[in-house]
This record gives sequence, C-alpha cells and structure tokens, in this order.
Amino acid sequence: MLATNVFLKILAKDIPVRVAHEDDLCLAFHDAHPQAPVHVLILPKRVIRTHADLVPADAALIGHLNLVAVELAKELGLTAGYRVVVNCDDAGGQTVPHLHLHLLGGRPFDWPPG
Ligand code: AMP
Repeated sequence: MLATNVFLKILAKDIPVRVAHEDDLCLAFHDAHPQAPVHVLILPKRVIRTHADLVPADAALIGHLNLVAVELAKELGLTAGYRVVVNCDDAGGQTVPHLHLHLLGGRPFDWPPG
C-alpha cells in the first residue's frame, strides 16, 4: 500500500498508535495531541477524503463509526457526556485528508466551539 498521508501510514501499521478499537471497517486510536483527557480518532479503513464526500452508499459505514464512538465512550468511562467532532476541509479545521470522528471527553466543552 502506498501510504500518502499520516492516517494511511497508521492504517498500514507504518506508524504506531495506541489502538482503542479495530474491526473490518474501522480503526480507532488515541490522538497524539489530545485536546481532552480522552481524545480518540475513529476512521474508516476505506479512503473517504472528507465528510462532504459521503454518499448514500456510505450510510451504514458512517452509522458504524458513530456506534463505535458510543461503545468507546462507555468503555472509556465518559458517563457525564462527551463530544463527537468531524472537521471538514479547510474552514472546518481538517488537517488530515481522511474522514475521521474525534471522540472527546473527560472535561466540559464550551459552545460555540472555537
Ligand atoms: P483533523 O485536524 O480533524 O484533521 O484531525 C487530525 C488529528 O490527527 C489531530 O487531532 C492530530 O493530533 C491527529 N494526529 C496526527 N498525527 C497523528 C499520529 N501520528 N497519531 C495520532 N494522532 C495523530
């Protein structure tokens, strides 16, 4: 596999990460620069560049990513609540061009977000 961005390198096991969950469809791992006590990234193994590229055929996959977030929130003890974030493209603050959910918890979050 020709790994062209950091998440493809992680999926190819070329860069080590602290894995939180893995199945046929996705990989979840702890963020290298956590923005909260719990900060896990959940990404599909199939390449989807960004949220805006999702199509109806991806409905089950994006549902699966969200259900993995629910399970991880339970496993990681986020009983008081948590935040799920998807940054889309430049204005949304996306830095890695491979769709991913951020699962953040362990502290309160403000609204509106920065
Ligand atoms: P985004 O800005 O939404 O594209 O999120 C990319 C996230 O990937 C950031 O929170 C980074 O801290 C995280 N990240 C980048 N490289 C690594 C890495 N090698 N291991 C774990 N997380 C990473």
